[in-house]
Amino acid sequence: MSTYVFGHTSPDSDSIIGAISLSYLKNKLGEDCIPTRQGEISAETAFILEQFGYASKIPDLKTSVAGEDVYLIDFSDKAQAPSDIMQATILGIVDHHKLGDLTTDTPLECWIRPIGCSNTVVYEMYQAYNVEIPKEIAGMMMLAILSDTVIFKSPTCTKVDTKAVKELAKIAGIEDYKKLAMDMFIVKSATEGASARDLNSRDYKAFDMNGNKVGVNQLEMIDISALDSRKDEIYADMVAMKEEEGLHTMLVLLTDIMKEGSQLLCVSDDATKIERAFNVKLENNQVWLDGVLSRKKQVIPFVQPQFN
Ligand code: MG
Ligand code: MG
Ligand code: MG
Repeated sequence: MSTYVFGHTSPDSDSIIGAISLSYLKNKLGEDCIPTRQGEISAETAFILEQFGYASKIPDLKTSVAGEDVYLIDFSDKAQAPSDIMQATILGIVDHHKLGDLTTDTPLECWIRPIGCSNTVVYEMYQAYNVEIPKEIAGMMMLAILSDTVIFKSPTCTKVDTKAVKELAKIAGIEDYKKLAMDMFIVKSATEGASARDLNSRDYKAFDMNGNKVGVNQLEMIDISALDSRKDEIYADMVAMKEEEGLHTMLVLLTDIMKEGSQLLCVSDDATKIERAFNVKLENNQVWLDGVLSRKKQVIPFVQPQFN
């Protein structure tokens, strides 16, 4: 029986490339793993796959896993898993987020580290098992790490991540990896032709906070002023999304990777929770959070306690 390896809903590059890199390692170790995904790939991920000859090797879509053996990468929250995850056997988790609310009936393998990217954890696994990383997979892992760490600017980035990028770049034969990463962020920043709903679900994650569902989307862009004329439209869709998903709060982070901060948009049953979380006053349902680049390190840890 094959084991399915996949990342979170609304998959980002770490989720897709992680499914590929972890599956390859596990197969080298004698297991039978298939990389899959829970949703459509982003333009950024398509760019990465294309750069390294994987455009025709996109992991298959798989949104139901009852009765299957699975490895999870880049998440451990039930709200980011297939709805029937509790009927699957979780063999292992490889991640770099807070520990989520998934539990298991059987012992499992866990590689969870407070570092910049799940692919950095996978890199460490390759080293631990002394398995050689193929050139193409090394290149894709490198870009996944550069994406998650916002080219080393994110406060989640550690020395382990920068070292992994340098070594993976060597294996992949890429000299100017920062230039390639900038090209990747240009692709990621494109918003023309995208509907408000496309934008609001691009990097959307749901969290259960003490029985309250909180949705947080993040758009990482080179220049968020490109969305200035679309704020009302984005806000109106957030209101609709909050209703449809049964959320207590819907947040959108428009993260400007050059200005190094995020414009926070908020729709909530109790916006004072969000104001308290960041010690700010919302004006017109929004506020600029200087220096905030990371949802997992600078947003969720402050919002979650407001629900405890
Ligand atoms: Mg992710
Ligand atoms: Mg990640
Ligand atoms: Mg991210």
